[in-house]
Amino acid sequence: MKINFKALGCRLNEAELENWSNEFLLKGHELTNDSDKADLIIFNSCSVTSEADRKSRNLINRIQQANPHSQLVVTGCYATLQQQQVEKKLGVDLVIPNQKKDQLVELVTEKFSITDPSNQSIDQHSLFDRGRHRAFIKVQDGCRYRCTFCIVTVARGEEQSRLQKDIIQDINRQYEQGVQEVVITGVHVGGYGSDIGSNLYELLSEILNKTDIPRIRLASVEPWDLPDNFFDLFKDSRLMPHMHLPLQSGSDSVLRRMARRCKTAEYEAIVEKARDVNPLFNITTDLIVGFPGETDQEWQQSIEFVQKVGFGHMHIFTYSQRQGTKAARLPGQLSKAIKKERSRDMHLIAKKLKTEALQQLVGNTVEVLWESHATHDPTIRVGYTTQYHKIKAKRCSLKGSNISQISVKALDTENLLLVGEE
Ligand code: SF4
Repeated sequence: MKINFKALGCRLNEAELENWSNEFLLKGHELTNDSDKADLIIFNSCSVTSEADRKSRNLINRIQQANPHSQLVVTGCYATLQQQQVEKKLGVDLVIPNQKKDQLVELVTEKFSITDPSNQSIDQHSLFDRGRHRAFIKVQDGCRYRCTFCIVTVARGEEQSRLQKDIIQDINRQYEQGVQEVVITGVHVGGYGSDIGSNLYELLSEILNKTDIPRIRLASVEPWDLPDNFFDLFKDSRLMPHMHLPLQSGSDSVLRRMARRCKTAEYEAIVEKARDVNPLFNITTDLIVGFPGETDQEWQQSIEFVQKVGFGHMHIFTYSQRQGTKAARLPGQLSKAIKKERSRDMHLIAKKLKTEALQQLVGNTVEVLWESHATHDPTIRVGYTTQYHKIKAKRCSLKGSNISQISVKALDTENLLLVGEE
């Protein structure tokens, strides 16, 4: 069978896609990036915001109109929260809620009576075929917390950790196939092991001991549930000096209304520990602007705290009411105009902070995983440093792997990326 995979949303959705595509490859099926040619299309949907819902609905319609003859399977958070609605949708042949995602390949094989081809020798690679050199590795699912704005915890359920041996097997298989970097991903990665008597420190120690992959990166990690000695792990240069630590607000009273488990002082302490290990440790974050009841004073507190931390990159989300969340029922919902103004102001601050973070790298020699070429000039290579800063370079000699050292000569302030030269 020719199978096409699509995903919206988080890295966890991407990681799940990689697992399913490898399972189908091992069964002898073929992947295609061209859904027109696909016999089967599997879409991993997202529901993190109402906008994500709209995009998921639109993509289902577009897939159905573009390839009415292919079988269409929809899974993911939108399919879980709106299951009946999706099942009724024209052209959707099978809906698999998040709770059954681990059996997706079996359920699909059974539903469409798929027989596995005899010849197993497929020379495709699910990542490289999609021009990627970094693999997302799912380590856990679900979350025990109830942040008042979050629908993910509703869609993905309680915490479930994968066994360390399965995770290490995944990583070693990716490395054998030429992948140079893995990204450890989940819903609440810091909660890894809570259901199997382990924790994230133990998992990362095992990965560092039992794999040879040169680069291990953490995806988003909530700023709590981290063991005290956590940052000792970063003394190993294979663990990338970069963490995406969602702050959401720089005001403690707003954090309380969000039911976040971390106050600004605790957040600051985590950042200090990271920078004690590596002064160029890159901290990136998510921030919600315009949360219900956010006063001018609370907004000012957010601005001051963000500037104090100095983030390498910020994802800025304008608060939107999400049916099914506590925050949607909170008093003091702000006007569109105020939210728009605060978002504009925070984007300007984020750009200034990113420029300052990148400027610190100029004059340094950095290690880069080269991943692609500039669209406008194929002689220019583009990649990411260990801190996850984007960099371009005219020439960089690669010896067998996509990783090389290069010195940072300048900063492209327009595109906010580093300029390297050998
Ligand atoms: S910790 Fe993260 S996933 Fe869990 S409820 Fe809060 S925002 Fe959602």
